[in-house]
Order: sequence, then structure tokens, then C-alpha cells
Amino acid sequence: MISIKNILTLDGTHADHEIASQEDRVIDGSALLLLPALIDPHVHFRTPGLEHKEDWHHAARACLSGGITTVFDMPNTLPACVTMKQLREKERIIDGQLESVGIPLHYRLYLGADKSHFDEIVKAKGHAVGLKVFMGSSTGGLVMDDESSLHAAFSLAAVHGLVLTVHAEDEALIHERQRAYTGPQSVEAHSIIRNREVAIRATEKAIGLAKMYGTRLYLAHISTKEEIALIAEAKREGVTVFCEVTPHHLFLTEKDYAHHGTSVQMNPPLRSQEDCDALFEGIRSGVVDTIGSDHAPHTRTEKDQPYGKAPSGIPGVETTLPLLLNAHHEGKIELKRIVSLMRFKIEEIFGLTPTDDFVLVDLKKRGKIERLYTKCNFSPYADRVLSGFPVTTILKGKIYDLTRLLP
Ligand SMILES: [Zn+2]
Repeated sequence: MISIKNILTLDGTHADHEIASQEDRVIDGSALLLLPALIDPHVHFRTPGLEHKEDWHHAARACLSGGITTVFDMPNTLPACVTMKQLREKERIIDGQLESVGIPLHYRLYLGADKSHFDEIVKAKGHAVGLKVFMGSSTGGLVMDDESSLHAAFSLAAVHGLVLTVHAEDEALIHERQRAYTGPQSVEAHSIIRNREVAIRATEKAIGLAKMYGTRLYLAHISTKEEIALIAEAKREGVTVFCEVTPHHLFLTEKDYAHHGTSVQMNPPLRSQEDCDALFEGIRSGVVDTIGSDHAPHTRTEKDQPYGKAPSGIPGVETTLPLLLNAHHEGKIELKRIVSLMRFKIEEIFGLTPTDDFVLVDLKKRGKIERLYTKCNFSPYADRVLSGFPVTTILKGKIYDLTRLLP
């Protein structure tokens, strides 16, 4: 039994808390806050096939150090995870990596929507966490940009009761804008080519399809003020649509290209401060349902290539909670809201059984992130001084002290 004494809880009172465990430990919680461990509903741990970018040995440690004990992993691996056979093989590889590092992380996998494998959708029911549709291209080749395939995916997901998660960027418009672009080949071009219209148009289309078929639609990494308004409107009309935002669209803007270059190149790209403010407003008003890190690492060498060659995506699984705790410190978000966005709402949308995992937070701890565990070993937030850090994560009754090096 783990016995935590006199710890601050979310309702502002101090209480004792007990967690079933093989270990017999008493923790003095008087200077700490107890939160349910968080879920990251959007990660790319790059396994199998792209393990030079990330693997579950590194990623599992990164999760614990960020207070996260459950993740949903995306299907754009090598090969792409588009059949149940591949999904089970992927689980076998992941289980092996988690076992060797001794961290029994909870995870669920997405099935990638692929027009030559629509028959897999029925098999995925109750096993895959959802169906992922890439309306616009990103890492990997899983684009679905033709009308009839999109209709089929939305309809099948609805019939078989799977959440359909979309990467909403309009592929045709991206190509059109790429051809028309004549400006300098610097990373700033990324936000110009994949502009807000690219995202808005795809989000609008996805909402229309969800409405038509009654699909449970989960919109990943929403980045613009206009999309927040569209989603608010759809929710008012009773469409089952859920909205995720990422830490990078909350805490970085296109101004950050000047200092961070292609390190902060991702899809959809960074926007303006006005958009960041609109996302925070969406959080406060309840239009935004979840926060997902979209942890999508590449090696330093890959990212250091010039714009056009450098791949899109940044890491984030271990920096999300410290950034949110710091935003709480600055009065921008409530603690209860953080837990709703990164735990309770995700359980509700995806129908998860709650875990008995916890994270202990020191709200007074101030400084920079001491160590990164992700294999790519960089973060655009590494230089920020933040207030509030997770110090202990409890996963399946095992205590991980984050102030020491993780296993
Ligand atoms: Zn992603």
C-alpha cells in the first residue's frame, strides 16, 4: 500500500490518500498536489520502422517524467498500421520494448484509414482506439483526399462505432498554394503555404461528413480561431464533434521561427498570437475538449536540414504538463481544467476504463526542464523558466521518482 499523507487535492483541501501497491511506502505529501495521471491522446512513438527518431524505451520514460501514464499512438509508422494484423504485431513490439525498460505504460493504438483496407475497420471495433484519417499529408504516406474514400471512412466508422480522428488540412489546397508560392524558401513559408484556409476548409468538410453520417468525429490539433468558431457552432447543432489542441499551438507562434527555425516546423503550422488566444478562450468556454502533445520527434540532423527538406513535427510528451502548470501559475488555466482536458474528457470520448495512476506535483518548483528523455533530445521549450513540475508518477502501484534518473 502506498500511503500519501496530507496532500493537497483538486478541491483545495489536504487529505490522506491510499493507492493499492506491492510496495509499502509512506509519502509526505504536505508540499505537493495530487492529480490523476494524465493521458496523451496523440503521440507518434515511431515504432515500428522509424525507431531512429523515437522508440518506447525513451518515450515511456518521457511519459512518466511528464506525468502521463496512458498514450494513444498514431498509425503513420513503417509499415503504416492499416490492418489488424499489423496492429497486433505493433503491440507485440511495443510490449517487448516496455518490458525491457520496466515501465508498464498503458497504451492504445490507432488504425490508419486506407482505401485498400476498408474491410479492416469492422475488425478494429473494440480494439483500436479509433480510426485515423489524414486529410492532408504529414510524415508517412497515409493521405486520404478523394471524396468517395472520405465518405466511406466516415460512414464505416459511424456504422462500427469507432471514433474517427482527422488530421484536417486540405491536400489539394496545399499543392495549389505550394505551386503558387514564389517567396523565400525559409521556414516562415510553412505557415504561408499551409495557411489557415487549408485547415479551415478541411475542418469544415470533416464536420459536414460527421453530420451526414453521424460519425463521432475527433478533430486533432485545431490551430485557428475560425475552426474554434466552426466547432462551437457544430456542437450547438448537436454534431458529435470533439476538439483537440496541442501545446505548440497554445505556447508558440509563427514569430518563433526566427529563433527556432525548422525545430518548430509542424503540421498544421504555427499561427498568430490571436489564434493562441482563441484556443485558450476555447478551453475556457469548453469548445476545446482535450490537449494532445502530437509528440512527433525527428532527429536533430533531420530537423537541421533547410526548409523543404526538414520534416515536420516536434516532441512534446514530457513538456506538456510543465507548460500547462506554468500557464496555471500565470492565471491562464485552472488545474481542474487541465485534468479534464488530459484525463476525464479523454476517458469519456474514447470510453476508457479509468486507471488508478497518479502524479504528484510541486507547484512551487521553478526552473528549466532538467532533463529530456525523448530520443531526439531537443525541445523548443528547453530554455523556458517554468513554475510547477511533476515530481512523482505512480503507474500501476509503482512509484517513479522524477527527481532521479528514470530506469
Ligand atoms: Zn500527429
